Amino acid sequence: MNVILLGAPGAGKGTQGAILAERTGLPRVATGDLLRAAVDDKTPLGEQAASYMHRGLLVPDEIILSLIQQVLESPQAANGIIMDGFPRTVAQAEAVEKLLSARGTRVDHAVTFNVPEPDLVQRLLGRASQEGRTDDTPEAIRKRLVVYRELTEPLIEFFQTRGILREIDGVGSVEDIAERVMEAVGA
Ligand code: AMP
Repeated sequence: MNVILLGAPGAGKGTQGAILAERTGLPRVATGDLLRAAVDDKTPLGEQAASYMHRGLLVPDEIILSLIQQVLESPQAANGIIMDGFPRTVAQAEAVEKLLSARGTRVDHAVTFNVPEPDLVQRLLGRASQEGRTDDTPEAIRKRLVVYRELTEPLIEFFQTRGILREIDGVGSVEDIAERVMEAVGA
């Protein structure tokens, strides 16, 4: 089973992705985590990505696609995968479809979390004080939400036309939302 977790920054993808991975036994891959590790390790890819991330912009598709390709072609993805934070553009979504179909598989569920914008900002500002992420400044948060609306939100329609969109209410307790996610993916 291949699952994509869609949703704005702060919608709960990371938290719910980790729970879904634990309950299904599928690996969760988060491009944001991979990129932050590359930035910390000061790899060439990390150095390229950092300036975009700090400003709340998306890292260019070609950088993400090289990461995604390695992940989707790896043995750990053979039985399925939970994709957290990618695809984030239509070009990335098309690339994911192509890479999976080359392995004779497909995206089974695209889960989107509905959370009102004021709640998103509140959550992101709260996380900023706890985790100290460099892109959780008020300015970068505003930019990430605009980028989400412009570049990532169109994926909702993209997956809706494929009949695999699962929309869930992203407001409530972590456990309630986790149950909604399990139900949405039929697990
Ligand atoms: P996240 O942890 O998913 O919120 O991602 C943090 C930052 O990493 C984003 O604001 C982007 O700068 C970058 N990023 C993560 N995933 C992607 C992606 N699929 N495409 C482009 N940029 C990404």
